[in-house]
Amino acid sequence: MTPRIAVIGAGPIGLDAALACTDAGWPVTVYEAGPSAATHVRAWGHVRLFTPWELNVSPRMRAHLPTAPTGNACPTGTELADRLLHPLTELPALQGRIRYATRVAAISRTGLLKHEHIADITRAETPFTLLLDTPDGEDTAQADIVLDCTGTYANPNTLGDGGIPAPGERALAHRITRTLPNTTTDRASDRWAGTVLLVGAGKSAQTAARDLATLPDTHLIWVVRDAHPNWGAIQDDPLPGRQELVDISQKLADSAHARATVHTGTHIQSLTPSPAPTPTPTPTPTPGNAPILVRLATPQGPQEVRVDHIVSLTGYTGDPTLHRQLQVHECYATGAPMNLSAALLGSSGADCLAQPAVGVDVLRNPEPHFYILGAKSYGRLNTFLLRSGYEQVNEVTSPYAHTRSGHTPLSR
Ligand SMILES: Cc1cc2nc3c(=O)[nH]c(=O)nc-3n(C[C@H](O)[C@H](O)[C@H](O)COP(=O)(O)OP(=O)(O)OC[C@H]3O[C@@H](n4cnc5c(N)ncnc54)[C@H](O)[C@@H]3O)c2cc1C
Repeated sequence: MTPRIAVIGAGPIGLDAALACTDAGWPVTVYEAGPSAATHVRAWGHVRLFTPWELNVSPRMRAHLPTAPTGNACPTGTELADRLLHPLTELPALQGRIRYATRVAAISRTGLLKHEHIADITRAETPFTLLLDTPDGEDTAQADIVLDCTGTYANPNTLGDGGIPAPGERALAHRITRTLPNTTTDRASDRWAGTVLLVGAGKSAQTAARDLATLPDTHLIWVVRDAHPNWGAIQDDPLPGRQELVDISQKLADSAHARATVHTGTHIQSLTPSPAPTPTPTPTPTPGNAPILVRLATPQGPQEVRVDHIVSLTGYTGDPTLHRQLQVHECYATGAPMNLSAALLGSSGADCLAQPAVGVDVLRNPEPHFYILGAKSYGRLNTFLLRSGYEQVNEVTSPYAHTRSGHTPLSR
C-alpha cells in the first residue's frame, strides 16, 4: 500500500521533504500555517545567512531547479525565499500539494490514546488524524506518515532567570520584541530611538547587537547570562559571516563602543512599568511608550536601568503541543527527540558544519512513522543548519528506497 504522507511546514526542510516524497511517487500533502511558503524565513528575511548558497540548496532542490543560485555568496532570508523556496513551490511536482493558511493544531493516532498499544504493531497500522485550522474553519485529515517540519521561530523562549518568565515579563509581553529587529527599515522611523535592552547571546542576539549598535539615537544595554562568553567562536571558522559576529560581539563586550553597555554574568530579576502603576481594583494596561524599569542581578550586585524597548532573543524551541498525544520520547535536557539529542550532545565541538549525519534509526520515535525534522528536531540546541536538515530528509526517505524488499523508513 502506498502511504499517504503529511509534511507539516513549508519551510526549507518541509519543501525538501515534499520533493523527496514526490520523487519516490508517494502522495504527499504539505500543510503550511502561513499564507505562502517560508513564512518563518521571511520573518527574518532582512538577516543575511552565514552559510552560502552552496550549502543552502540541497542536491534534490538543485536537480529540480537547475536555475537555483550557486556559489559562495550568502543570501539574506528574503533572497533564500524569493530565489529558492518560492520557485520550488511553483514546480509541477508540488502543484496542488501545498495547503496554505492551514495550521496543524494537533496530531493523534486515530482512535488510540497516547498510552495505548505501547510498542505493538497496532499503532503502526493505524493512520494519524490531523486537526487543521483552515480559513474555512476546523477540519481533519488523515495520513499514514507524518513529517513534522514546523521549525522553531514562532516559539521564542522567555527571558527570566533559569528560562522561566521574569516577574513582570508576562504583563509586559506587548512591549517585548522577540524577533530580529530590522534596523534598516526601522531607521527612518526612529523605531529603536532611546535605550534598548537586549537579552540573549546566541547568533540572533549577536546579529541584533551588531545592528542596534549602529543606530545613532540608540543606547544598547546588552544582558548576557554567561560570565565569560566566547560567543560560539570556532577556531579557523570556515564561515566568515559567523566569525564576524563573534568579533563584533567581543568588541562590544570589551566596551569598545560608546553607545553599548554589555553586562556579562547577569540575569534579569524583574521588569516593572516605570513609574509603577498605582494599585487599582482593575489594573490598567501599561502605556505603549512608558519606560520600563529593569532590575538586573550583576556580578557586582543588583542594578536598575530604565529602558524604552526590550528585545529578547534567548532562543527558540519547537512546539511540543503538536505531538502531545503521540509517543515521542523527548530528551529531558534539550527537548529534542531523545536519540537525536543524545547523538548531537555526543558529537564534539560547537561547529554545526562538522556534525555528522546521524542515521535514520536516530530519527525514529517510539511512535512509528512520526518524524521530527529540521530546526525543530534540535530542540534547544542552536546548532541546526539547513544542510543537516537536508541530510535528515535523505535519511528518512532514501536509504532503503531501492532495496530488493522495497522497505524504506517510510514504508508501512
Ligand atoms: C535569524 C536566523 C538565521 C539563520 N541563519 C542560518 C544560516 O546562516 N545557515 C543555516 O543553515 N541555518 C540558519 N538558520 C537556522 C535554520 O536553517 C532556519 O531556522 C531554517 O529556517 C529552518 O528550516 P525549517 O524548514 O526546519 O523550519 P522553518 O524555516 O522555521 O519553517 C517551518 C515552517 O512551518 C510552518 N509551521 C509552523 N507551525 C506550523 C503548524 N502547526 N502547521 C502548519 N505549518 C506550520 C511555518 O509557518 C514555517 O513556514 C538561521 C535561523 C535564524 C532564525
